[in-house]
Amino acid sequence: MPYDFAGGVLTVKAAAPARRAAQQLTIRYRADFTAIPPQETVGIEDPSFGISATIREEGTYLSAGVPWFPQLPGARGRHRIEVSAPAGVTAVTAGRLLHSATRAGRTVTSWQSDLPMEGLALSAGAFTVDRDDFDGIQLLTFLSANNAALAPGYLAAMRRHLAFYRELLGPYPYPKFAVVENFLPTGYGLPSWTLLGSSVIRLPFLLDTSLPHEIVHSWWGNAVEVDYARGNWSEGLTTYLADYLLKERAGAAEARDYRRKILRDYAALVTDRNDFPLRSFQGRMAKYQQAVGYGKGAMTFHMLRREVGERTFWRGLRRMGAEGNGKSLGWGEIERIFSSETGRDLRWFFAQWVERAGAPRLALDGVRIKPSAGGWTVSGTIRQHGEPYRLDITLRLTAANGAVVDHAIRLNGPRTPFSLATGDRPTALEADPENELFRRLAPEEIPATVNDLLEPQRPLVVVAEGREPLREAARDLLRGLHWEDAELRGEQSVSPAQLAGRDLLLLGWPVRRELQPTLPASLEIAPDGTFAWQGSSGDALFAVVTAPDAAATTALLLAETTAAAAAVAPKISHYGRYSLLLFASGRNLVKTTWEPAASPMKVLLPTETPP
Ligand SMILES: [Zn+2]
Repeated sequence: MPYDFAGGVLTVKAAAPARRAAQQLTIRYRADFTAIPPQETVGIEDPSFGISATIREEGTYLSAGVPWFPQLPGARGRHRIEVSAPAGVTAVTAGRLLHSATRAGRTVTSWQSDLPMEGLALSAGAFTVDRDDFDGIQLLTFLSANNAALAPGYLAAMRRHLAFYRELLGPYPYPKFAVVENFLPTGYGLPSWTLLGSSVIRLPFLLDTSLPHEIVHSWWGNAVEVDYARGNWSEGLTTYLADYLLKERAGAAEARDYRRKILRDYAALVTDRNDFPLRSFQGRMAKYQQAVGYGKGAMTFHMLRREVGERTFWRGLRRMGAEGNGKSLGWGEIERIFSSETGRDLRWFFAQWVERAGAPRLALDGVRIKPSAGGWTVSGTIRQHGEPYRLDITLRLTAANGAVVDHAIRLNGPRTPFSLATGDRPTALEADPENELFRRLAPEEIPATVNDLLEPQRPLVVVAEGREPLREAARDLLRGLHWEDAELRGEQSVSPAQLAGRDLLLLGWPVRRELQPTLPASLEIAPDGTFAWQGSSGDALFAVVTAPDAAATTALLLAETTAAAAAVAPKISHYGRYSLLLFASGRNLVKTTWEPAASPMKVLLPTETPP
């Protein structure tokens, strides 16, 4: 049959069929996928590591965006895929596993995918396959021999999460869910499967973090697709329904802490210069984009849930799942669905949170307490800096005996006066005590964390006297923090005046007192650099504090041995939200964030009656 192949387009000159009979076209072709994965992945923020298609000894990955099989332009097809590979190499793709068998030195795996899809991702490797069934849904794991023992834990967790989310979001949209190990440290959620890196997959907390996240993507981002040009809402929603909701199920304090962490990430990573509206988020290439697309996105769904009410929120999501299945939705459709479910116009909500960059900046002002009939009156003003947002905020009065009274206040303008009456004499007033609102934290509310090092100001690395070997051991740390170009000096060659306004990393405990950072009193450091935090020590420490002039950040790496430093160096940038990390033999013992110094949202009230 005559054909033409140019510029990736195959044109076949087929004779018209005699009658309106179906015709079958077989295309034989050969293609090589030879992309070479990076040797070193520390510090690469691109979640794909730049690899869209590769067939290699250590494994195969072909992304859905790469046309590795013939496709009609724009067409969504059903697929029957049969992969013949060297014995022991099993392939995974969308759809239901039909069979997998090894014969005459070849392993043949076949899959049937009945949901129309544009493009297919495929992975293959020397996997051990384990399976289970959940109400007719195939549950599968494809793991390397090293990790095969993880299968029962994953299969049980899949059952648990599918049962929970089916109840919440409506029917699971696919015939299977598979956990597949990858040779790159990925965390992909693909339609009906997830592709997790070999070392990541071993982390025990993954069963209740990345796994439910990827399962929830089955609804949002896979069955209901995202039109990226109109904004990627699926990461915010998936983060909210997986990462956040699991904390909420664990308890109110965990949920509040998670919301607080979102605000801290935003404050640490997003500046007026790099901020952008949620609607412009397409994907995560850098951490500041994640703080908006995932963090602000999750908080937007949290505030939507508070705005429309519990029942309407879940009903609206089930409607999104049903109406959007097989289609792509944008923020506009989400607004339409929730406005219709509530019978109210939610334009202001989406304009404010999705289309506008930035976050409210709030502060309490002029707070007073006065005796009044039957108790006390607390009055004051809530100020909003910049163009005001419409916000429903909680004001909480706490009495000396710990009793709390909450008042709801609607903010509309730059200044909202309030006057609250209460019986017991209150000792404190706090605005938004549960962190239900997305806002920009004030500088004094933000303890220094690893994330503060990621957008460094004239970074300087100072190596303590006698700790020169740490310089080499810390190489992966500098790469992870994007500090490769930082200036490097020995402690004897810097003067304290040179440090002003610069982000500083100390390798080892400086001998010179004036270079020693001020640390919280609970962190004990001996003159020889040994350390302890609330009874824990370990063999390596990383701490981040605000510099005395508050204009910069100081970080400190201490390690008993060079090997201990080298073992933790590549890991530190993954603990962005923390101020203090302790490790033993490379394993994390302690991760904590300092308590904030103060807040413009909290006022301690005088306990003496004012004159
Ligand atoms: Zn995601």
